[in-house]
Amino acid sequence: MAISLSNVSFAYHYPKKNTPKYVLKDVSLDISLNNEFITILGHTGSGKSTLVQLFNALLQSNEGNVEVFGKQISKNKKNKLKEIRKRVGLVFQFPEYQVFEETIIKDVMFGPKNFGLDNPKELAEDALEKVGISKELYEESPFMISGGQLRRVAIAGILASNPDILIFDEPTVGLDPLGKKELLKMLKVLNEEYNKTIIIITHDMEVVAQVSKRVIVLSKGNIVFDDSKENLFSNEELVNKFGLDYPNSIKIMKQLKERLNIDLDIYQYSIDDCYNELVRSVGHNE
Ligand code: ADP
Repeated sequence: MAISLSNVSFAYHYPKKNTPKYVLKDVSLDISLNNEFITILGHTGSGKSTLVQLFNALLQSNEGNVEVFGKQISKNKKNKLKEIRKRVGLVFQFPEYQVFEETIIKDVMFGPKNFGLDNPKELAEDALEKVGISKELYEESPFMISGGQLRRVAIAGILASNPDILIFDEPTVGLDPLGKKELLKMLKVLNEEYNKTIIIITHDMEVVAQVSKRVIVLSKGNIVFDDSKENLFSNEELVNKFGLDYPNSIKIMKQLKERLNIDLDIYQYSIDDCYNELVRSVGHNE
């Protein structure tokens, strides 16, 4: 297992006398490298950001067991955390704030250099190609390009160290619809073609519907759901209980089913699937 948490509880402060204020409580989960694409949902303050920081040892727990690539991580153990952070890359919200070098190529080379990897320039070029930044831009200042491009450069900066797992905190916030569409497409390619395990914290049900396979829902520091997106959205009781919204594709299919009074499986997640299901139900000529 790439990441394994068993019975982990976490508090930011452990007062000597009082019980700590737990931010995560008795959390257990496993994340593999088998093409996982996970979204983490939950209200603000439910512990999402804290949880992902345990995944790459930015935070370390002293209750329960956290294992990342076979290494047990705890406050009491001295581990080589650099290796773990190389393999589990964390892209913060507004990653553009992490960009600071005078040229794009230099900025993306920073990570591989910092991890002491061979051929940082080649690694940077490879990462920039994967995120769709063209060669003409390599020597430009990262501050002269569009917001969507800048976010891609920032992602390339993490990707350049070739992590096995990429974690994103609210990656679509602040992007226009085209920027969002392109970002999701890129994440899908990283997952499907380059076999990266992707973990995304999000409030955006379109992200969940369009790209993720597995959904983890956090509530007040507990994992209250960890299963496929299909098993989440097809259970109305759960969706309501967690205060979630439905993706647009399901909303539209629901309306069509009611208005046209037809037999329709409303749980579709892409335009193609919606179209195919409509054709199945009413035929090509209707
Ligand atoms: P989410 O990502 O779901 O919004 P967080 O993991 O950011 O949740 O926060 C969970 C809880 O931990 C919140 O009550 C928050 O105030 C608290 N918290 C987050 N970061 C810190 C910190 N550095 N020090 C103390 N408390 C924190």
